[in-house]
Amino acid sequence: MQMTNNKNTDAPNSTTPADAKPGYSTLSVHAGEARQKPVNSITDPIVMASTFTFENTDSIISFIENNEERGEYGRYGVPGEQVVEKKLAALSGSEEAVLFSSGMAALVGIFNSKLSSGDEIIFFDECYHRSREYCKKHLSRFGIVTHQVKTGDYDAMEAAINSNTKMLVSESPTNPHLSIMDLERFAAIGKKCGVETMIDATLATPYNVRPIEYGVDYVMHSATKYMGGHNDLLAGVVMASSEKIEDIRSLRGVMGAVNSPHNCYLLERGLKTFELRMQRHNENGQAIAEFLEAHPRVSRVLYPGLESHPYHKIATETMRGFGGLVTFELADADWKATAKVVDSTEIARIAPSLGGVESLIEQPLVMSYWNYSPEERASFGISDNMIRLALGIENADDLIRDLDQALSQVI
Ligand SMILES: *Cc1c(COP(=O)(O)O)cnc(C)c1O
Repeated sequence: MQMTNNKNTDAPNSTTPADAKPGYSTLSVHAGEARQKPVNSITDPIVMASTFTFENTDSIISFIENNEERGEYGRYGVPGEQVVEKKLAALSGSEEAVLFSSGMAALVGIFNSKLSSGDEIIFFDECYHRSREYCKKHLSRFGIVTHQVKTGDYDAMEAAINSNTKMLVSESPTNPHLSIMDLERFAAIGKKCGVETMIDATLATPYNVRPIEYGVDYVMHSATKYMGGHNDLLAGVVMASSEKIEDIRSLRGVMGAVNSPHNCYLLERGLKTFELRMQRHNENGQAIAEFLEAHPRVSRVLYPGLESHPYHKIATETMRGFGGLVTFELADADWKATAKVVDSTEIARIAPSLGGVESLIEQPLVMSYWNYSPEERASFGISDNMIRLALGIENADDLIRDLDQALSQVI
């Protein structure tokens, strides 16, 4: 059931006070859920079923012929999954959403349902290393060509389009450099050239920016990150129009990249506090980025909320906040001195991932690029003295105090 537009509620509306649409947290808590649930429970039940029974043969035929909405077999979707999909579609301003078992499964789901042998895609070069790996190592084996062009070079992107080009792809913000796309321009190039567009908006979240509203065709998120928000689940989601999402959903049913009922429940529960968490991630990101920028042992900070960031202008024009990811480089530090700072933090835990309540810290060189050559690392903009901080929802004062003592460990 969709949220109804109830003008009599006095629920705080932090998003669009000028109209009577429900506010973001009202949607986070209620959208997609039935008002009365089984056994009158306030929460959605976890339905542990791999298959769903039919009363008799007639009911099977009626289900098939009338396209009835009901459970059939777990691989085609479970009840909890549909609730989360509706909630995420409402939060993203999208007609529909389809949930996958991970962010990578969602990315593979889009590419494999939309691309055929001989097709080409153009990908901005700053991207999650596994997304690059999927294109280069796997799509290529099926005759699909990936061109990578410099992030933010829209002229190069347009120039690379030819009659085989099927999709323009980018992350926004990118990881770990936090470059921000001009979504209007990106979508316009696609529309002008008759090519579909896709954004991996994992780092932005639909709280901070909604690429669908700029005319981007497909938006993908690793829901493992901010949406789940508690470092306790893996999931992915694709948002698109009902028409464009149909074959992606159908491929998911064949791939089997679905979520367990328990996972769906955890994601639904995590989403209830989505706005509150995002507000804190945004605040922490800004506060810690400003602290680091002023710190004498830090030579460079990448955070879109800082005036020094190359994409600051487009970020402030298009985003509500800039999230909890802060990337910085140490002054006069080799990789070992950098590792010492990582190892000296007491609050942030050393781990990959981002977007959960617990702050995480890592050195991209070690965590993701250890097996790459120095030349490759340089081409991806990964330096030895770089640290990636994924701020959680702890109090900024504590995080700052902890970083200050960790930074004092490098001489
Ligand atoms: C984590 C991440 C992914 C992959 O998502 P999983 O849920 O780990 O499969 C894709 N893109 C970005 C930007 C990510 O941060």
